[in-house]
Amino acid sequence: MNEDTASKSPKALILFGPPGSGKGTQAKLLREARQVPHISTGDMLRERIAMGDPLGRQVQGLMQSGRLVPDEVANRLVDERIARPDCAGGFILDGYPRTIPQAEVLGRRLAERGFETVVIHLKVDYTVIIKRIAGRRQCPVCGTLYSLTSNPPKKADVCDLDGAGLVIREDDQEDVIRERLEAYDRQTRPLIEFFAGAGHALKEVDAGLDGPDAILQRISGLLGNR
Ligand code: ADP
Repeated sequence: MNEDTASKSPKALILFGPPGSGKGTQAKLLREARQVPHISTGDMLRERIAMGDPLGRQVQGLMQSGRLVPDEVANRLVDERIARPDCAGGFILDGYPRTIPQAEVLGRRLAERGFETVVIHLKVDYTVIIKRIAGRRQCPVCGTLYSLTSNPPKKADVCDLDGAGLVIREDDQEDVIRERLEAYDRQTRPLIEFFAGAGHALKEVDAGLDGPDAILQRISGLLGNR
């Protein structure tokens, strides 16, 4: 029996890596493959901005300049989300935790609720990331991501699924990408040591050059069937 089949606890799968490492793409593929919810703090925050509610107005400026939103905001969103019944069998976290205080809060919650934590670290060079993000386009309606180089829409600038015009996220402009990479180095990268110290399974995946399906295979191989 391998490590995976031995464990009966539902898994909290944390996709970890710099902006542009493919966390969102892999999270969507894994959601389909494993039939568990995909929780993206970036998507949840963008929804709040689009709704124009007070929280959205509070975080809009920070996100557009590439800085992180306050830990309390991210913690509250995730705490509420993972308490819902659809998360009982496990879930995928994308873009959270991003700071040590977030990881501490999450660690306590997952332990209380009996989840096993598995961290998948997507490793990609910064030169690849900058090129990748500069070519990224998103559907403002359904959130599907496209890449002008590796995964272009069938018709230029239009979403394959709903025909909406694709957009460049404001925080995907090149100067903002650099700010986001700096925030990652300063606040998020130190979590690698934190996860290892907390005794979590930490699995490294080379996510630089291959396409999304090959990377999904690699992750699935590390996770086993469940
Ligand atoms: P990426 O991973 O490509 O940077 P995301 O969509 O995950 O993109 O995040 C976009 C922005 O949302 C971040 O730059 C940050 O401002 C905000 N954000 C997302 N998740 C968090 C979080 N856990 N803590 C603080 N800020 C966050």
